[in-house]
Amino acid sequence: MRILVIEDDVNLNRQLSDALKEAGYVVDQAFDGEEGHYLGETEPYDAVILDIGLPMMDGISVVEKWRTEGKGMPVLMLTARDRWSDKVAGIDAGADDYVAKPFHVEEVLARVRALIRRAAGHSSSEIVCGPVRLDTKASKATVDGVPLKLTSHEFRLLSYLMHHMGQVVSRTELVEHMYDQDFDRDSNTIEVFVGRLRKKLGVDLIETVRGLGYRMQAPSEAAK
Ligand code: CA
Repeated sequence: MRILVIEDDVNLNRQLSDALKEAGYVVDQAFDGEEGHYLGETEPYDAVILDIGLPMMDGISVVEKWRTEGKGMPVLMLTARDRWSDKVAGIDAGADDYVAKPFHVEEVLARVRALIRRAAGHSSSEIVCGPVRLDTKASKATVDGVPLKLTSHEFRLLSYLMHHMGQVVSRTELVEHMYDQDFDRDSNTIEVFVGRLRKKLGVDLIETVRGLGYRMQAPSEAAK
C-alpha cells in the first residue's frame, strides 16, 4: 500500500512518514500544494494525508481539483483544532475524513487503515482468505493461526492482494503500490516476490492469470 503525505511542516511530515513506513506502507512526501497535487494526479496512491494550510495551493483546492479530475483515492485532511469551517469545507471538497492538529500519530494511522480498508470494501480490521488472516492493525499475517515471517516487500504484496481479493491485479499495479516514486522499479521482481510468498503461505491461494497478473482468493471461491 502506497501513501502520499502532503505537509509543509518538515518535522511533522517526517514524523508521519516514518510512522507509516514503520507500519509497512510505502510513502511519498510532498511539502507544498502544487507538488502534492501533481503527485496525486500522476501516481496511484492507496490513501493521501493532506494538510489544509499549504504553500502554493491550499489543501482544500488540492482535493477539489483531484475530485474534478476524477481522482477518487481516500483523502485524510489535517485541520486546525478550532477551525470547524475548515473541516466542513474539506469534507465538502471531497475529503473522506479529517484529524485535527495536534494529533496522536496512532490516530492518523488508524484512520488511514480504515480508509484503505473501506475503499477496498472491507469493514473489519482483519481480512481473511481461507487459512490466511491479515491483521491490518498490527501489520501481521498468520496461516492457520501461525504467524508468518515476511519481509516488508512480501508483506506489502500480501496486503495488496488481500485488500483486492478476487480481483486480477497486474504486475504494473503491484509495482506501483509497493514502491515509492524514487525506486528503480522492475516488474520482474514481482514474480520473485510472488514465488517467495507462495512458499511461505504453503497454500495455493495466489493464482497466476496468464498475461494479466495475479489473483488471490480462498479455495472455496476458486472452486466456484
Ligand atoms: Ca501547514
